[in-house]
Amino acid sequence: MNVNVAIIGGSFAGLSAAMQLVRAQRSVVVIDANTPRNRFAGTSHGIFCLDGKKPSEIRATALSQLHSYPTFKLVEDSAIDVSPTQDAFTVVTEKSDQFIARKVILATGITDKLPDIPGLKEHWGKSVVHCPYCHGYELKDRALGVLATSELSFHQAALVPDWGVTTLFTQGRFKPDREVLQHLQSRGVTIEDTAVIRVFGDGVNLEYVELADKRRLAIEGLYIGPEVISTAPFISKLNLETLETPIGKIAKVDEFKESSLKGVFVAGDLSNPMQSGTFAIASGTMAGIAAHRSLVFSE
Ligand SMILES: Cc1cc2nc3c(=O)[nH]c(=O)nc-3n(C[C@H](O)[C@H](O)[C@H](O)COP(=O)(O)OP(=O)(O)OC[C@H]3O[C@@H](n4cnc5c(N)ncnc54)[C@H](O)[C@@H]3O)c2cc1C
Repeated sequence: MNVNVAIIGGSFAGLSAAMQLVRAQRSVVVIDANTPRNRFAGTSHGIFCLDGKKPSEIRATALSQLHSYPTFKLVEDSAIDVSPTQDAFTVVTEKSDQFIARKVILATGITDKLPDIPGLKEHWGKSVVHCPYCHGYELKDRALGVLATSELSFHQAALVPDWGVTTLFTQGRFKPDREVLQHLQSRGVTIEDTAVIRVFGDGVNLEYVELADKRRLAIEGLYIGPEVISTAPFISKLNLETLETPIGKIAKVDEFKESSLKGVFVAGDLSNPMQSGTFAIASGTMAGIAAHRSLVFSE
């Protein structure tokens, strides 16, 4: 099937890009495996007009609006290959569908790699979270912790006291320098160097963390900035330039979200150093508009 634009990933970024393109009456296929990054959370927060909505509800609303445009097509599948041809791209899916697209938007998101500490995974998105702006309000006034995964965690630990009494767990690996330490202390942050080795709770609410010296500390909300990895093989397959950030590698794009390979745009967490639903929507919108302009000016 020939389309103007193939969008890989159908969540905040991919569906926002699609909206711009179908409203310009361009044919769009969105290929989506439906595993958005926030699927572990019961509700989404801090997004204009969507505060408190379930991630699945947001996707369903976006899709029902897109399906009212005749040039929109959703394929619930995984894209397994994208290859450039002379003036287009061939996209192949796991179920062997093939699309020839003049432009491609990659909006496949990233995957969070949680530290290997028993109990973290079960509470991820509920009381073990990465973003105070997304979940801080729901966890407010509890005993809070920040589990250091990089030096960025110091920044997070300085923010979190606005939501509750905070302990920074350095894991004995990430030591703030004197100036940072003074700032954290002025924010009332307690520093704990003994490593957290396990977290306990009922699968939703965290109750306490256990340290390597067997102490147990009451912690009811734990922040982590996990390392992020791109699960989509396309960045390396297409040899796209990347950008190293403190949390991991993302695709390098210009201000219009075009990657180092002309005709391939990258939107959402896969190219955003600041990552949230709102930023993904904004960058998807930009990628959709830029892909449309690129179609117009290459015709
Ligand atoms: C637990 C948690 C809770 C969060 N809560 C909030 C919140 O409350 N508010 C907020 O603003 N932000 C929140 N975020 C951040 C937010 O989820 C992300 O910034 C946002 O989802 C990024 O959107 P995206 O479209 O770039 O990628 P994603 O939403 O991750 O979507 C990527 C899509 O691409 C698909 N995909 C991947 N590879 C392929 C492939 N090869 N073929 C086809 N499809 C593919 C995936 O299946 C997925 O559907 C949260 C993050 C986490 C981890």
